[in-house]
Amino acid sequence: MKVKNDYFITHYYCRICNKEHTIKLRKNIAENRERYPFSYIFLHGDLKNILTMLYIDIDAQIRGVDVKELTDEDIFSKDQVKSITTKMIDEIERLRRENMILLDEINELKKKKEWLNIWNYNTNQVNIMVFKKLSCKLNED
Ligand SMILES: [Zn+2]
Repeated sequence: MKVKNDYFITHYYCRICNKEHTIKLRKNIAENRERYPFSYIFLHGDLKNILTMLYIDIDAQIRGVDVKELTDEDIFSKDQVKSITTKMIDEIERLRRENMILLDEINELKKKKEWLNIWNYNTNQVNIMVFKKLSCKLNED
């Protein structure tokens, strides 16, 4: 399974830092979302104190950016917490489903490997039998 190079580089403008930031996103980031655009939340900045919410469309293009600088006194409103938590739960749920798909794939591969082992064993047994028969024939001659 390909894991390396499964990322792409893109940019978003941050009004707090007043510049374009570069970000690395998974190529499949837009797959299997319940709605579009969906939000992608993370913290950035030297102090990791800028709450960043990117709105990403089905083509993995960034369509909007929300940034909020967090300070020590910062207290989220109930609605903000609810909104962020809901989005994070969605993300966790999506990762859980992705994980289950990957586990299924691993189990399939394990089954295939077992079959391959049985196949190889049987092939070896046949080869040994053929070799023994040939040896007998040679001895008879
Ligand atoms: Zn910034």
